[in-house]
Amino acid sequence: MFTAFLIKYAEIGIKGRNRYLFEDALVQQMKYALKKCEGDFVIRKTQGRIFVEAQTEFDFDEVVAHLQHVFGISGICPVVYAEDEGFDKLCDTIIQYIADVYPERNKTFKVAARRARKNYPKDSMTINMDMGEAILKAYPEMRVDVHNPEIMLNIEIREKIYIYSEIIPGPGGMPVGTGGKAMLLLSGGIDSPVAGYMIAKRGVKIDAVYFHAPPYTSERAKQKVVDLARIVSKYTGPIYLHVINFSDIQLYIYEKCPHEELTIIMRRYMMRIAEHIAKENECLGLITGESIGQVASQTMNSLIATNEVCELPVYRPLIGFDKQEIVEVSEKIGTYETSIQPFEDCCTIFVAKHPVTKPNLNVIRRHEHNLDERIEELVKEALETDELIIVQ
Ligand code: ATP
Ligand code: MG
Repeated sequence: MFTAFLIKYAEIGIKGRNRYLFEDALVQQMKYALKKCEGDFVIRKTQGRIFVEAQTEFDFDEVVAHLQHVFGISGICPVVYAEDEGFDKLCDTIIQYIADVYPERNKTFKVAARRARKNYPKDSMTINMDMGEAILKAYPEMRVDVHNPEIMLNIEIREKIYIYSEIIPGPGGMPVGTGGKAMLLLSGGIDSPVAGYMIAKRGVKIDAVYFHAPPYTSERAKQKVVDLARIVSKYTGPIYLHVINFSDIQLYIYEKCPHEELTIIMRRYMMRIAEHIAKENECLGLITGESIGQVASQTMNSLIATNEVCELPVYRPLIGFDKQEIVEVSEKIGTYETSIQPFEDCCTIFVAKHPVTKPNLNVIRRHEHNLDERIEELVKEALETDELIIVQ
């Protein structure tokens, strides 16, 4: 019965030119999401509203599920179209609509008509009243509640007549592409996919970098990261994933630096390399899945050490989250099951038994000088291993 969806979007403060940018980005992301659905669709913008109109048969649940991945959508309203064949006919259509959508009919309602076409013979107030009366006559068990109705029957009179009452929640946020682009340090863990999701939700396009350490980390570990990127890309659109071979750098640090500082120094090199790739790809920031105190390398002191090697801002959307809260988001967005597959990422291989939790910056810098002889060359070589995987 539904042949279209009215898309609700609401972010306060989007005005003027920004509104068009917002809407255009939203439409583009919706097209990307709908491409994966059975059927043909037209997306139409009219008077500050966006409609998805099905041109063919389609699977309602599939379309809703895909639209629920599009940031910027606050609500998805399934719409029934009716031809304008007189008011009595419209009442019949609405009565049938209620029978179809609310078979129980034990709910309060309100008719909210909008006459977008002013030559319609009744004005909105009259439509509300006359329609309400017709509904009560058909279904005496229903009740009108103008203040807090359980069913808000929206009737918009345009060339055709649009009927909708249900609002299925969307993911909220801003359309991807309205907020620039950032580079996500994506590992195979639980946290970083969630971090990428959260920043993308604010309209930021995501590129990603994964530090791979063969043979210490397996092909399966890399595949896991690709799989995670694919899940995140359902929300963000295609992700350009850079895979960097980090083994030689890691071994060299292992050879030259105190083992309890290994993780910190390694993370500093990850940040440096990620920033280099970020700048080459017009990214305006880095994103990590760090959260204060989660592990030794994420204490406030350790964060000072990893932060100081970058010029670009480092966005850490999980900084104040408990692990359980992160897990909840990862379950919601569908990355959890993949994240907990037991393939080691390169951080876990060389970890010391007692890593420093309060690294002293001067000490770390001094020990990094142990690497002076070869590190520049190794970083350059690592950058040359950059394997670009376009994940979609
Ligand atoms: P995650 O669950 O995201 O792997 P974690 O709790 O294992 O996080 P760390 O290993 O300390 O934490 O890593 C902190 C952050 O550094 C990660 O959230 C991620 O953004 C980045 N990171 C760690 N390892 C890698 C890697 N191999 N490739 C890319 N980024 C990484
Ligand atoms: Mg990790």
